[in-house]
Amino acid sequence: TEADAESAHSYDLERLRRDMLHETAGEVDDSIPELAASDPGVCGIAIVDGEGDTRATADARLKFSIQSAVKPFVYALALRDGGESVLDKVGTEPTGEAFDAVRLESDTGRPPNPMVNAGALLTASLVDGSSPDERFDRILRGISAFAGRELRIDRAVSESEQLLGDRNRALGYLMRSAGTLSVSVDDAVSVYARACSIVVSAEVLAVMGATLAFGGRNPVTGVQVVPAKVVTTVLSVMATCGMYDGSGRWLRRVGLPAKSGVSGGLVAAAPRRLGLGVYSPPLDEEGNSARGALVCEHLSDDLGLHVFGSA
Ligand code: GLU
Repeated sequence: TEADAESAHSYDLERLRRDMLHETAGEVDDSIPELAASDPGVCGIAIVDGEGDTRATADARLKFSIQSAVKPFVYALALRDGGESVLDKVGTEPTGEAFDAVRLESDTGRPPNPMVNAGALLTASLVDGSSPDERFDRILRGISAFAGRELRIDRAVSESEQLLGDRNRALGYLMRSAGTLSVSVDDAVSVYARACSIVVSAEVLAVMGATLAFGGRNPVTGVQVVPAKVVTTVLSVMATCGMYDGSGRWLRRVGLPAKSGVSGGLVAAAPRRLGLGVYSPPLDEEGNSARGALVCEHLSDDLGLHVFGSA
């Protein structure tokens, strides 16, 4: 409604950012050297509405690797290319476990959902392409369309992810043994590692979130990136699985489909309202940006974004 749009336009994002800077809980991820070097004191917030208007605070253009926040978008591209068959290959059930849990569905050998590493390794392999490079190029073009600008990868991050990706390789071998991964483990890990290494900012994530919020149409460029039906599936799975083993509390407290990443990025979509991007490296015990979660809670309360909120 006009009132909703007005409230988003007049909201004092800088004040919210200043308040959040006093919240110092959480630890910077140290899974790879590039992430361990992140500045724990930064916090960038951006929102994008249906007209493509972007509002952003200081730090919202700081660049970082997208990490697992890429997973919903890879899932969307796999669904666009592979259709309903993707739903037979990757489950859509939350696990209540960590993002890198070594767990496949006992009866089917499928990964439980596309928001955990096993699922993302598989969905990345389901994007069209006859080689890992072709598949990754198609993913990069698709993610760039969600962002409304040409994105690139951080090569140092990609190399570290592949060098230190033994657990992801183990997930790959588990899926190969279950007959659920049709490409080689090295192919799957190289595509997934590069996807995690795509460089974004809070502002870029907000445009990507807005593209999901408006049925797959990027409100900045006007491009229909994926069909609206694909977005319905993606948002549903984000809502139940996107925040790992904190997804239940997240849905109750924030009430928005969202996906976090260990770099401290967080993307959320308020359907038919706005897209939200936050960047603040310190992570909570579930591996989600601690400040990012608080920012989303405040914005959900203050702007009435909760999908189950009263009218
Ligand atoms: N590249 C990281 C991994 O594969 C992503 C983890 C995350 O952001 O949750 O483990």
